Amino acid sequence: MIRHTGNVFVLSAPSGAGKSTLRERLIQNIRDLTFSISYTTRSPRAGEVDGQDYFFLDNPTFDRMLAEGGFVEWVEVYGKRYGTGRKWIQERLDAGVDILLDIETVGAKNVREEIPDAVMIFLLPPDAEALSRRLRGRGKDSEEQIQMRLRYARHEMSEFGHYDYLVVNGDLETAYRQMESIILATRCRRERMMPIAQRILDSFPALDQVQR
Ligand code: ADP
Ligand code: 5GP
Repeated sequence: MIRHTGNVFVLSAPSGAGKSTLRERLIQNIRDLTFSISYTTRSPRAGEVDGQDYFFLDNPTFDRMLAEGGFVEWVEVYGKRYGTGRKWIQERLDAGVDILLDIETVGAKNVREEIPDAVMIFLLPPDAEALSRRLRGRGKDSEEQIQMRLRYARHEMSEFGHYDYLVVNGDLETAYRQMESIILATRCRRERMMPIAQRILDSFPALDQVQR
């Protein structure tokens, strides 16, 4: 079980649905929200930066981290391995920062086992055709990778019933506002706000000192 004071948000979607686009904006605009940088054995795409988009590792280094229990969860998808670093997210959660994990559905289920109150969000493309267009429009994967991602999309989509929130990324602005609302509303949940609300209450004089 992972101890945490910050909130954990898990975002899953078939590849190409718009997770990176939305998450970049969310991280930029919402204070105290950070993105969980995963470890992967896949190669960087054009424009991706090590330590910013992913920590890019070779297979032996991934194996070593795995043997040392360094992952909260890990999977193999599209022929490559991806994992969430235990130390990395624990340090941030201890600091009370909220974390957004962009991970696929198997990893998401494993995170929920370790963090039962993680807030699970599934992002859907408006339809299959739009997903195919977006993957090709992104222009950063080979045709073989695109075909693999489209084949896997149906499987990924069939998992949305395990999530707390479903957001359709048709119009980007609408999807962004919905995602932002979920994050901000979660922060106002009673169980999250209790220590702050209690401190506010304690700043008032005790009831027997109040003149009625
Ligand atoms: P993911 O991270 O889920 O694989 P990306 O964020 O890379 O997906 O988005 C895939 C492509 O779709 C990108 O070229 C992005 O600019 C585009 N895209 C994202 N959201 C929308 C949207 N609402 N409408 C049209 N295109 C979008
Ligand atoms: P991409 O290669 O397009 O960046 O990511 C491929 C898939 O791997 C996406 O669905 C993404 O959410 C998922 N992914 C990225 N990092 C992790 C991780 O650490 N764990 C798991 N389980 N999935 C991840």
